[in-house]
Amino acid sequence: MQDSDSILQLIADTTPALLAYFDAQTLRCRFANASYAHHFGFTMQSIVGRTVQEIAGDAVWQEIRGYFPRVLVDQESVRYTREVLRGQGDTQYLETVLRPHVANGEFKGLVALVTDVSHHYRLAQQMRDSEERMRKFAEITTEAIVLHQGGIIMDGNDALARLTGYRLEELHGQHVLDYIAAEFRAQVLEHGRGGREDCYESMLVHKSGRRIPVELAVKSMPGTDGHFRIVLLRDLTASREAQEHMDFLAQHDLLTRLPNRARLHQLLKEALSQATAQRESLAILYLDIDHFKAVNDSLSHHAGDLLLCEMARRLRSTVRPQDLVARMGGDDFVVVLTGHPTPQETEAMATQLYQAVETPCNLDGTQLVVSLSMGIAMFPSNGETPEKLLSNAEAAMHMAKDIGRRSFQFYTATLESRSTRMLMQEQQLRQAVEQGEFELHYQPQIATADGALTGLEALVRWRHPQRGLVYPNEFIGLAESLGLISEVGRWVLRQACRQVKDWQNAGFPVVPVAINLSAQEFLQRDVAQDVAQALWETGLDARYLHIELTESTLMQSGGQMSDTLHALKALGVSLAIDDFGTGYSSLAYLRRHPIDKLKIDRTFVTDVPHDPDATAIVNAIVQMSHSLHLQIVAEGVETPEQLDLLRSLDCTEAQGYLISRPLPADQTLAWMSQHLNKPRRK
Ligand code: C2E
Ligand code: CA
Ligand code: CA
Repeated sequence: MQDSDSILQLIADTTPALLAYFDAQTLRCRFANASYAHHFGFTMQSIVGRTVQEIAGDAVWQEIRGYFPRVLVDQESVRYTREVLRGQGDTQYLETVLRPHVANGEFKGLVALVTDVSHHYRLAQQMRDSEERMRKFAEITTEAIVLHQGGIIMDGNDALARLTGYRLEELHGQHVLDYIAAEFRAQVLEHGRGGREDCYESMLVHKSGRRIPVELAVKSMPGTDGHFRIVLLRDLTASREAQEHMDFLAQHDLLTRLPNRARLHQLLKEALSQATAQRESLAILYLDIDHFKAVNDSLSHHAGDLLLCEMARRLRSTVRPQDLVARMGGDDFVVVLTGHPTPQETEAMATQLYQAVETPCNLDGTQLVVSLSMGIAMFPSNGETPEKLLSNAEAAMHMAKDIGRRSFQFYTATLESRSTRMLMQEQQLRQAVEQGEFELHYQPQIATADGALTGLEALVRWRHPQRGLVYPNEFIGLAESLGLISEVGRWVLRQACRQVKDWQNAGFPVVPVAINLSAQEFLQRDVAQDVAQALWETGLDARYLHIELTESTLMQSGGQMSDTLHALKALGVSLAIDDFGTGYSSLAYLRRHPIDKLKIDRTFVTDVPHDPDATAIVNAIVQMSHSLHLQIVAEGVETPEQLDLLRSLDCTEAQGYLISRPLPADQTLAWMSQHLNKPRRK
């Protein structure tokens, strides 16, 4: 007994716990180890015989007394933890275990074992804090977070609920794969099995069935029972849409929303492989708006943009949905006709496209009519790759432009080189000269004072066998560049002289005819010699022939020019400066050369009387012509107001649509006879 007492004493003194024994009947302390006694401010001796209440104090007794009946009456072990405030705001957590001591069925007493569990408490608190922090992290991020173990969802944040459309309670305990699109499941499984932690993309399925592209960032977390995976899901819908938008932009023309050049290549490639498989043809139409630059320059870039959009809309609505329309940049468009079009059908569509484009359009209040030049390449005969077909169609378009705008041209192998193209055009023009495909129209000039006919201007037209009437702006330039202008000019000269002579012979008013000569004609041939010969051949008196040249013609041709002009004057022919005001308008050449007449350019006339600057210029030109004793004609008179103003400015002659458009010979004759009988202005 003595022995076991000392063993107990040793154990009691060695344990870090606080240990005491209380008598069952009296609840007085029979024994306490040193730590217990010191904790409550006693010695091992002084504590013996004291009650629990005496030892712990009244306040604590009130806190714990409720536990005692369970030990004393029910003879159960009881465990509770108390928070004890110590100095410096430090809290200590004490866990007390009260255990009944029963021997031979008799309740003898109770053991109180008090341990400091502050350390555990602090750890637990830290855990709670850290969990709280985690929760806050999870809530603060807009990114969805899910925690799963072996695929079973353990936890998630509100963002996860928002992303998936499910409530968190619905997700708990479910397998992650249930929310992944079927074709992505293998990939997710594979990633999870490998314990990989790299980011990857997958496809989530929202409760509504909508698919949501997501990026997944995964971390493995070792846990007591197996590895957890914490997964961060980033919704890629917005960035995918942005990407798709970028792709759209990269493939479409921003202005017209049509596919751009790059996209056309792709689409055409697809169309070609389909056509090849089905043994069908395709037609590639390369379109270019005539004089687009002029629209852009003379109206505004905004008007130019509007025009392009309008053209895009018309082209798109003219072709069928399965056909392609793309913008190649600038004013170039491409139309691809699918579904085995024949050349005849293609031609019919080309005509429809012309008509669609030529309907007048309203740009910022300005009515405008535009035309197209079009080149056509057929698959497979004109090429088998997008590049080849597009470049051939484009070459054909340039050919169409050369022949004269507002036309279309099928690609032919002879177009291939520029020189052969030129040759073809040259042939066409030569043929025109040889076969007499030209005709002259005449535009009357009148005296502003009384409306009397004062002269006729001969203007050439080309009666093209396929294209109908072609205007000089469309072929004079070509004739000049091909060196054919002299051929044309000679014909015009003779024809004009012959015609006027005929009218004179028939008894019609004896008025001069004016012809236009290009600068090149003066370089290429002896104009004076030609004129002399024409006059001699036709028998026309030189007084009835006027020659119109431009200011630039006079400037270009140097000394030789002067000789020619003087030679012409010597013949008795009159010389007029055409388009006066648009070139150098230098008084020096007016004095140097034997000029008889100025023709005020249409652009100034168009703007009178409302534009004061134009009015001032017209006035100045008129005054100058009077002081230099030159005759003066205003071109392009279209309104009675213009005619009135010109008269008031003392411009003696006028020409323009108001008086008459240029007319074919027979109509000119009719006009003249009618005009003769009209009452004159006094
Ligand atoms: P141009 O010599 O200035 O001829 C006048 C042009 O203005 C003609 O155009 C005529 O139809 C047009 N016009 C006349 N009145 C009016 C009007 O009131 N309003 C408007 N908007 N236009 C009017 P066309 O016949 O198309 O001739 C264009 C140009 O071609 C001529 O300009 C001339 O430079 C050239 N051309 C015409 N015939 C010949 C020719 O036989 N030989 C040469 N080398 N050039 C020619
Ligand atoms: Ca003229
Ligand atoms: Ca003119």
